[in-house]
Amino acid sequence: MARIAVVTGGTRGIGLAITARLHSEGYKVAANYSGNDEAARACAASYPGVVCHKWDVGDENACREGLAKVEAELGPVDILVNNAGITRDGFFHKMTAGQWRDVMRVDLDSLFFMTRPVIEGMRARGFGRIVNIASINGQKGQAGQVNYSAAKAGMIGFTKALAMEGAAKGVTVNCIAPGYIDTDMVAAVPEEALKKIIATIPVGRLGKAEEIARAVAFLAGDDAGFITGATLSVNGAQYISG
Ligand code: NDP
Repeated sequence: MARIAVVTGGTRGIGLAITARLHSEGYKVAANYSGNDEAARACAASYPGVVCHKWDVGDENACREGLAKVEAELGPVDILVNNAGITRDGFFHKMTAGQWRDVMRVDLDSLFFMTRPVIEGMRARGFGRIVNIASINGQKGQAGQVNYSAAKAGMIGFTKALAMEGAAKGVTVNCIAPGYIDTDMVAAVPEEALKKIIATIPVGRLGKAEEIARAVAFLAGDDAGFITGATLSVNGAQYISG
């Protein structure tokens, strides 16, 4: 029986590459998104069998209902990829509470809202894979992204603690910390600033969404059961953490 995977923000950017990769490896995939119906339609058309559902991962009830719909359609969730994320950049001395809250609810609260409804079933069935897409900037910090760096660092702490709880029940919990990846999120960075960022990446280029998807597939495998609580950096050597 094919395992069932849910990818949040799975219809665009890194998430779309994860959806495509898991689909190509034979998983049944549900891709969530928040507003871009056109991208969702294109995703469903490109990957027959992938179901795309719109809900806001920062809304607790919407997550519970969305996951119930997926489970009714495909079956119990074996693999959850918490990928959806946003930025609301600005220096902290100018940051509004709204910018802070938006990032916390989508990038961090969503971990609770998405993971809590599926974790009991995973524990009961003795199998689960949770992969959280953090960021290099949650590891090293980034000026102009105090909100985002805090949320992504929080994601790493969540991963470590939940890994300990799930370990004896066959539920692994890991993070991937991407460096700068060529998606719409990075396309929003001004060209001059982007050139300066690329100059700090020893590999000499932005990463590709497919390179993150490769790492997700590795951690999602049935044979990855001894890898848990880890943060896997995929960043072209831009930041090498201990
Ligand atoms: P994109 O902005 O390209 O895509 C974001 C995806 O998340 C979209 O599918 C979007 O849906 C979805 N999304 C956003 N908000 C919500 C929400 N409230 N509820 C449900 N879905 C939502 O982002 P990337 O692909 O670049 O980034 C993916 C993840 O990787 C993020 O967590 C990001 O922080 C992280 N990351 C990215 C890096 C990069 O360089 N790109 C570097 C490090 C980490 P819709 O299409 O409907 O808008």
